[in-house]
Amino acid sequence: MSKKKLRSDIRLTGIPASPGVVHAKIHVLDREEIHVPALPIEDSEIGAEISRLEEALFQTREQIREIKEHLSQSIGEKDAAIFDAHMLVVEDSSLLEAVRKQVETKKLCVDYVFHHLMLSYAASMRQVDDPYLQERASDIMDVGKRVLKNLRGMAPSEKLHLEEPCILVAHDLTPSDTALFDRKMILGFATDLGNRVSHSAIMARSLNIPSVVGLKDASQSLDSGIPAILDGYEGILILNPSEKTGFEYGQIEQKRHAIEEGLTQLRLTEAISKDGRKVTVSANVELLDDLHLIQSAGAEGIGLYRTEFLFVNRTELPTEEEQITIYQKVMQAAHPHPVIFRTLDVGGDKMFDHLGLSEEQNPFLGWRGIRYSLGSPAIFESQLRAICRAGVGFKVRIMFPMISTYEELVQAKSTLQGVILDLEKEEIAHCSDIEIGAMIEVPSAALIVDRMVPEVDFLSIGTNDLIQYTLAVDRTNEKVAYLYQPTHPAVLQLIQNVVTKAHEGHVWVGVCGEMAGEIMFTPLLLGLGVDELSMGSIFIPRIKRVIQSLNHQEMKALAEEALKMNTGAEVLDLLEKVAHAHYPELLD
Ligand code: PEP
Ligand code: MG
Repeated sequence: MSKKKLRSDIRLTGIPASPGVVHAKIHVLDREEIHVPALPIEDSEIGAEISRLEEALFQTREQIREIKEHLSQSIGEKDAAIFDAHMLVVEDSSLLEAVRKQVETKKLCVDYVFHHLMLSYAASMRQVDDPYLQERASDIMDVGKRVLKNLRGMAPSEKLHLEEPCILVAHDLTPSDTALFDRKMILGFATDLGNRVSHSAIMARSLNIPSVVGLKDASQSLDSGIPAILDGYEGILILNPSEKTGFEYGQIEQKRHAIEEGLTQLRLTEAISKDGRKVTVSANVELLDDLHLIQSAGAEGIGLYRTEFLFVNRTELPTEEEQITIYQKVMQAAHPHPVIFRTLDVGGDKMFDHLGLSEEQNPFLGWRGIRYSLGSPAIFESQLRAICRAGVGFKVRIMFPMISTYEELVQAKSTLQGVILDLEKEEIAHCSDIEIGAMIEVPSAALIVDRMVPEVDFLSIGTNDLIQYTLAVDRTNEKVAYLYQPTHPAVLQLIQNVVTKAHEGHVWVGVCGEMAGEIMFTPLLLGLGVDELSMGSIFIPRIKRVIQSLNHQEMKALAEEALKMNTGAEVLDLLEKVAHAHYPELLD
């Protein structure tokens, strides 16, 4: 759709991913997917093809130089030196020579030849039994992508040339892309793919950037420059809004603003139901930038610190010392409340090149979470050492993600004990009175939870994954988003089983998935007996307000009723009635 022909108020409906409304022109990002067709060329075109590659290599060298310069100032010379390896690849004259030969003999476009050469270089490096050379394989792929983008005239995502603040429209965004966004320039974003619990959506909420996902093919049919309103509450992108629509949105925003103002008064209150049941309300933290929000939102600690985001957008692992500095910042921000450090949870939709993760057929069923940590003892131990060393004088909790078997929990605990013993032997200051927890996000763990309970101090239900694995529905796939049902009776039964068995063993239970921050589900989670709810900071005041408006005993009865229902939709209907009866002002 181009600007000229566009009628006003065209509404594209997707999935609301991060609340808020923004008005701005859209900027459409070219598709990031690298599909490189093998286009035949004529003899007469060979020279021009090679010049294109030379130009792209030149551009890439300039970009790498700029990034290196920028990073030297922000993260220091040492880490920025990683880009030297990238520079070596684009300065390698034998590479250009090899491409030239193949273009001449195969008579195929330079994009295709270059791409396949890079893939085969990287593949052969991965086969060499040398960790240094294996590492270089990801450098090659990284640089290769950058050169290809330049060949094809794409703007690298970390260096969007934006002239004014915009709503970014893209086919898909990775959590790494989202973490790099400049909030002053990217006011909101809309993507073709994704669901509300994909990690890019979670990042958007933590960065407080309104967003809509699952718009199917918006990025292919729209042109940059179209004025738009992005409504992250309803999941709508309105193109070319009329004056009337702009005015209506202005009014809605004013009303929402007034509600938010009212809610901030609640920040120092506790989430206690009318009949005296207290629920701890904590914050989920992804980036250090989130920390300033936790106190102002009234969080009673950090119920989920997703430590993997410390490993994002870098090409080298953080050292133990670096991790200590960051973990201390996190604990200082939460002090005197506790912090739950979730150990590295990579894999699935969090693929970070330098961690040695390779493409998998089914990444959500693959090498992720605790499986990765147990398979990478040096990385796991360094993280645990850093947490123990940073934790002196603070309330530290550690939990392990993606536990699917009892053995994994026992092995993870024994690694932690080993780390503490080593620190003792080395006479290095550390904390050892750490509470240990397991995430319950795989149905197998939820079903044998009675065996996990004696091993832990607490459990935290990761509903984002628990729903995905229970209903066999990819949490990032907009095509099956209708099946992603937090209220499905099977999910409720698993939560009930976890809470009941944990309480029998005197172990407390939190929920740290996105369900914890959604006001529609609070009555249910309160009724199911959950002790802590952990969520993006922006949701904390309203969840406190909801709990204060409910009666725990009544919600217990409600949960019993919900557990007997046949469908998620019936449960949702029931919950909507409760919401309208108890906190209608928050529903808008
Ligand atoms: C979850 O699965 O609910 C969870 C909190 O972990 P993540 O969203 O990071 O997978
Ligand atoms: Mg999870």
